[in-house]
Amino acid sequence: MIDVDVLVVGGGPAGVTAAAGLSAQGKSVLLVDAGLDRSKVLAGELLHPSALDDLRRVGLGAALESLHGRDVVGFAVMDAAREAVLAYPQGERGLSVEHAPLVEALFRGLGGRPGVTVWTKARVSSISRNDDTGVEARVARGNEETQVRARLYVAADGRASASRKLLGIDERHERMSTMVGITVEERLLPHPLHGHIFVGGPAPILAYGIGEGLARVMADVPLGSTAATLKEEPRWLSGLPQSLREAVVARLTPDQVRIASNDTRVPEVLLRNSAVLVGDASGCCHPVSASGIASGVHDAVTLVDALGADRQQSAALERFVRARRPAQRTRIALASALYRAFADRGPEMDALRAGLFDYWQTSPRGTAASMSLLSTREPRMWVMAREYAAVVGHGLKSLGQGGGAAWRARAGTGLLASALPHLKTAAEGLVEDLEARLGS
Ligand SMILES: Cc1cc2nc3c(=O)[nH]c(=O)nc-3n(C[C@H](O)[C@H](O)[C@H](O)COP(=O)(O)OP(=O)(O)OC[C@H]3O[C@@H](n4cnc5c(N)ncnc54)[C@H](O)[C@@H]3O)c2cc1C
Repeated sequence: MIDVDVLVVGGGPAGVTAAAGLSAQGKSVLLVDAGLDRSKVLAGELLHPSALDDLRRVGLGAALESLHGRDVVGFAVMDAAREAVLAYPQGERGLSVEHAPLVEALFRGLGGRPGVTVWTKARVSSISRNDDTGVEARVARGNEETQVRARLYVAADGRASASRKLLGIDERHERMSTMVGITVEERLLPHPLHGHIFVGGPAPILAYGIGEGLARVMADVPLGSTAATLKEEPRWLSGLPQSLREAVVARLTPDQVRIASNDTRVPEVLLRNSAVLVGDASGCCHPVSASGIASGVHDAVTLVDALGADRQQSAALERFVRARRPAQRTRIALASALYRAFADRGPEMDALRAGLFDYWQTSPRGTAASMSLLSTREPRMWVMAREYAAVVGHGLKSLGQGGGAAWRARAGTGLLASALPHLKTAAEGLVEDLEARLGS
């Protein structure tokens, strides 16, 4: 039997950040990681400035500096005829870097911290006790099984979280699409130092530099698609400029391509007695907003702060759940809204895209607000609803310029209707936040 203050399950960005922050509070931490081979994984490679701030706060800044990534100053959204270039507010910079070196560097950054023990190729196989005093779990490493007793269990084992299942926590799970990732030369991207979202084809295509003169291009395609789908149906790449499209097509061999599914997953609860979910284990969404890492490391920092502020663990965990809820709600709603705007066809979404371009091209305040939301700096749902309403306004304006009366009426009604779910979520969020404030 091993006794520790905290058992962290999962050594991705969220788990490593939690372990670093908790060890700085003087806690003994055992981090166990399944040892996923990240060199074959298609996952987060663009970190918003907020993620860099949070990683530096827990002392992982040196790990970031060891990386050969690219600065990111903002995003470029473009189709064949239009483009909007959006900068992070206040000249902030993010970072884009290949996923495997990023996570390896963070993992190495944990080394030598007082009180931290790391087990790789280790998995939690069962949880035999979970009450207000702590958790007992079995950890399998090779043929060995070790019983671990911990005051706190932090589940950071990613979106398919085994911990979540062991804890009996249900989730809402929507499989949205498949992402096919290809590496090309970075010089082919139209806007150096920017994340790119190409929206001129049937679904969005994301791209950004990942260092060493390379860029990752990720094409969103229907569920179950493979590299062959892109070869057989080139229309999925039609949103790319020609030189970039040709480079992608030339790299469409099974050994060059990485594939991931794009899912929305929202667990029913984040807390069960002495076990808490963070990072993707606590919810994930389509990567169009590139916000998973920023959100996951912020979860971890918020948890560390809550535990530092409240000596009673159960109260601290409740405080954590309340504190991270608005940002997560807004992030998931934003990713879903952006994805629908870029992937859905029909008059109302055509008008919404026109509204987005017009808004970003004409309103510096709107651009700044959009980038604050995208980069997770702005967590308030009502701000997202307000911005969506502003884009709808610009979309309605664009309707005056084309189509017949019947088409305009249909598009206008659809456009207004598309705002309703966001206004509803914003209203629910306001009520929930008010109740939480009155209750605390
Ligand atoms: C195609 C795609 C593109 C993306 N692009 C971006 C982007 O540009 N920017 C961004 O911020 N986010 C992006 N994301 C999301 C981002 O990858 C995730 O949000 C982020 O990796 C989540 O970090 P995490 O630490 O919560 O989980 P993970 O990174 O998934 O880490 C989980 C860890 O848990 C370990 N583990 C799993 N099961 C067990 C177990 N049973 N026991 C012990 N350990 C276990 C795994 O080995 C792994 O190390 C993208 C996602 C996808 C799919």
